[in-house]
Amino acid sequence: MAMSDDVPDGPSVPVHGIGPRPPVPTCDFCSRPGAIVFFATAEFFIDLPTYTWASGDRFYACPTCRALVDAGDWPGLIAYAGLGARGAKVVEGFRDHHTPGAVTFEPGTHPEHSR
Ligand SMILES: [Zn+2]
Repeated sequence: MAMSDDVPDGPSVPVHGIGPRPPVPTCDFCSRPGAIVFFATAEFFIDLPTYTWASGDRFYACPTCRALVDAGDWPGLIAYAGLGARGAKVVEGFRDHHTPGAVTFEPGTHPEHSR
C-alpha cells in the first residue's frame, strides 16, 4: 500500500493585520490615535445628568493638540478637536487643573502599561 507522503503541505500564508495593535495611546482631546505626550492633571469632576465624569490624572495629546495646549489656545483646541459643550467643559477643567509642560514618552509605547 503506497503511502501518500507526497501530498504537499499547503503553502503557508503570511497573515497581516491580525493581532494586537501597537499599544499607542489615543489623544484625549481629538480622539485621534497617535498621542505623543501626556499632561499631568489634578483629577477633576464634571457633573452630567446621569453620572459624574472623572477626568483621571493624565490627558494624552497628539502633536497638534499638544501645540494648542502649549500655546494656551483653548478655543483653538476645542475647534480642532470638534468638541461640543461637554467637551468644552472638559477642556476648561483641564485648563484649570493640568500641570503645564508635556511629558514625552517613547514612541510606540503606552505609558499606562508601566504604571
Ligand atoms: Zn489631538
